[in-house]
Amino acid sequence: MAHKTSDALSHLSEAQLHSRRTELAGQFGEVASAVRGSLHRQARRCGKEGCRCARGELHGPYVYLSMRSGRRRGLVYIPSQLAEEVGRRVELTSRVEAALAEISAINLELLARGQLD
Ligand SMILES: [Zn+2]
Repeated sequence: MAHKTSDALSHLSEAQLHSRRTELAGQFGEVASAVRGSLHRQARRCGKEGCRCARGELHGPYVYLSMRSGRRRGLVYIPSQLAEEVGRRVELTSRVEAALAEISAINLELLARGQLD
């Protein structure tokens, strides 16, 4: 996929590369709110005897963030009132990461043409 991207970039003029790079960098405005991971919904059994969940009516669904941070990885419970905002931030973060990867590819393409800026 990275190969495909750099192939596409090689057909652009330097002015187009600069303009695409500026457009991508414009998505970084809210970068301080980054949350990396993915959201999942899970229904659960509580394990209490006689509870409705024992008959298959599970509790939830509850929202979890599947995350990796350095060497830590795991599921983080997200209270339902925060789920929408966390979801928005997760989406923003993957957009920013994709934009950063593309900016780097653009800069490598410019570098291959002998001009980094
Ligand atoms: Zn239960």
